[in-house]
Formats: sequence, C-alpha cells, structure tokens
Amino acid sequence: MTYDALPSWQNVDDDRPTFVTHLECGLSGEEVPPDRLHGLSTVGRPFLVRYDLAAMARSLNKETLAARPPDMWRYREFLPVRANENIISLGECMTPLMPAPGVPGNLWIKDEGRLPTGSFKARGLCLAVSMAKELGVKRMAMPTNGNAGAAMAAYCRAAGIEAFVFCPDDTPETNIREIALQGARIYCVNGLINDCGKIVGDGKEAMNWFDASTLKEPYRIEGKKTMGLELAEQCGWQLPDAIFYPTGGGTGLIGMWKAFDELEAMGWIGSKRPKMIAVQASGCAPIVKAFEDGVEHAELWPDAHTQAAGIRVPAAVGDFLILRAVRQSGGFAIAIDDETIFAARDDMARNGGMLLCPEGAATYAAWQAAVADGRIGAQDRSILFNCATGLKYPMPEAGQTLDRHQTIDYGAMA
Ligand SMILES: *Cc1c(COP(=O)(O)O)cnc(C)c1O
Repeated sequence: MTYDALPSWQNVDDDRPTFVTHLECGLSGEEVPPDRLHGLSTVGRPFLVRYDLAAMARSLNKETLAARPPDMWRYREFLPVRANENIISLGECMTPLMPAPGVPGNLWIKDEGRLPTGSFKARGLCLAVSMAKELGVKRMAMPTNGNAGAAMAAYCRAAGIEAFVFCPDDTPETNIREIALQGARIYCVNGLINDCGKIVGDGKEAMNWFDASTLKEPYRIEGKKTMGLELAEQCGWQLPDAIFYPTGGGTGLIGMWKAFDELEAMGWIGSKRPKMIAVQASGCAPIVKAFEDGVEHAELWPDAHTQAAGIRVPAAVGDFLILRAVRQSGGFAIAIDDETIFAARDDMARNGGMLLCPEGAATYAAWQAAVADGRIGAQDRSILFNCATGLKYPMPEAGQTLDRHQTIDYGAMA
C-alpha cells in the first residue's frame, strides 16, 4: 500500500493532531476540561467540544486538506481524539453528493447509506467509541431505534469495548440481528427509545456503563459534524441554500451548524448559512410543534408512532440547540405523514433508481411540500440527507413465481 492510500489519519503528524481546548455546556456555558469522561452538564444539557480555531487555521489550509484521501479522517484536526493509536476506523468514506435522480430542480442527495454499518450513525459512533477508548471506557450502553446501536456494536467490537444495546421491540429486524452479530448484547424493550434510555440511565451505575445516548456524551456530535465539513468542501466552500434533515435527536443538524461556525471562524467560509429544515414524521413531531409554538424546548410527544424508525424520538435533550439552529438559519420545521413518506420512497426508487431509507424519503417529501407552498424555490440549491441504506428497512413483497418445467410464456412478460 502506498502512503497516499493510507487512511487520512495516518497522514497527519502525531505531535499536534487535535486542537481541543475545553468542553462547554450548550445551554449554561459551563466549562469543563477535556481528556476525561463527561456526560451531561450540571444543568443536564449537552456539552459541546471547543477548539483553538485560530491555531488550527494556522496549521491547516484547504489545499492540504484537498490532497488527503476521501475519508472522514481527512478532517483530523477538527476532531477530538488525541492519539492516532486510539482511532477505531472501519473505513468511513466521504459520501457522494449527487443530483437527485429523475427530479427536476436544483435538488441534491447526500447518500450516507454508503458508510460502515449502512448509516450515518457510523460517523458519530466512530468518534464516540474512539474517545471512549482514549478515556479508558470498558463498557458502553445506549438506547437506539436501530442504526445507532448497530454502529456502536461494530465500533465497540473493533475497539474491544463491551456494548449493551436497548431498542424498542418493533425496531427493524435487520438492525436487531446486525447488532447481535456484531457482538453486542441486545435487549428488545416494550416501549419507545426514551423508555430504553431510562433503563440505561437507571442501570449505568450498577453496570458500570458509559452512557452513549444521543447528546448525553460530547463526541457523537463531533463525528456527525463531519457531514457539514464534507458538504461545505463538496460544494466548493459555498454553502447550499437549504438543508433538509430528518430530525430525531438532532445530532446531525446541530453538528452541521457547529461545523459551519467553525469553518467561518477559520476563515474558510463566509457568514451565509443554508436554511436548516428539520423534517419529522406527523406521528412524532415534537420539534415541529415547539417551532410552531415559538418555544425554546420541546414537550415529550405522546404515543409516538411512525415507520421511519430513525426519527421516532419523542424527546430530545438537545431540542433547544435544534430549534436555535433552525431559527437562526431562517429555516423551519415540517412534519410529513407516513403515507407520504412511503409514496416518496417508492417514487424515488421507481423513477430515479435510488432506494432511500424512510427517513431520507421524508426529506424528499418535505422538499416537495416546501417547493409546492413556496417556502423553498425549485431552483434553490437544496440538499437532502439519505441517512441510511434503504436495504435495512422492510420492503413490499414482490416477485412472481415461474415454473421452469413448464413452457415459459415470454409474451406475458412484455
Ligand atoms: C438516527 C437517524 C436519524 C436521526 O438523526 P439525528 O441526527 O439523531 O436526528 C435519521 N435517519 C436515520 C436513518 C437514523 O438512523
């Protein structure tokens, strides 16, 4: 293997690979030192990682970056891991940004289904597990709707960390099985993801678990942030007009927003921001309700239901960060019902040849709705996130039987 073909992190000097200065509570501003384990802040809200961006700007430029291999670790300096030896990598490729196939308008899809474990949860868990390894964690636990658990299982297995995963009992079967195959303990709970989260929270002391729930540890968001870095780079450092993001816990939306601020502080982009559009399912839309009510925090959504499992999140600890980003960007939050979600999936598959996950299909339906009601122009450069491969989800039955011992009626196939 040539040097250039090595993963990016092996190309970066080990003497100053990261520029982390401290962690800061997103709500209260409380500051804590890095390099030790942290969960939520004193006020029970997420910590965000802060960097010496001025020093980073002196040590890294766009040309150096452009010459690195196309993987997530090309953004090494923007990430918190201190020692390269703690990086647990399963091949986090840069994901394609492509014109939405068969759709007129200026619509682009960032296809995150290409990542390890088939979803963008790999970005976050790659970082969370690498940091857990760096900080000496032996056991991790999390509630999941499927994809996060699968990514945690895989990275924990690679890191030699024990993983305990709790999911609602109607989580897609593929997720449950891949989690088990990748060596995690998986428990199917008769409740929703927040009920699973309570089991983790209540048990963590007795079980000596590090709680890897969405935004309850500071590093998953740093991994998800790379979506914003990557998008900016792929767009030639000119941010698009609108980003449609399927919002559960909101890590990706908050992470991209953070990435844009860091890039501006580096002097790599200007102050223009895309409209951040939080897409939820009508059966579970706490952020949409809070947005419309004009409040800073969302209430628990009762009886949450949608087949788009990744966005069935009745309560998000980072709700205020999602709402802030959406409002500051001039964006909005929008709910799509399941029937429309699956119609959008079928439409893109049949007419564009691209199988979206239901959550990705929700963003496509949201774009269509926003163009129809004039909130977004068809020629505005809009980005959809297809967060997982469509292959992980139930699909309609299909296929006709054919008896090879009978005369085949080719005419009937026309
Ligand atoms: C987790 C997940 C989401 C929601 O992502 P957040 O950043 O947690 O809001 C959307 N779609 C899929 C497929 C997911 O797995």
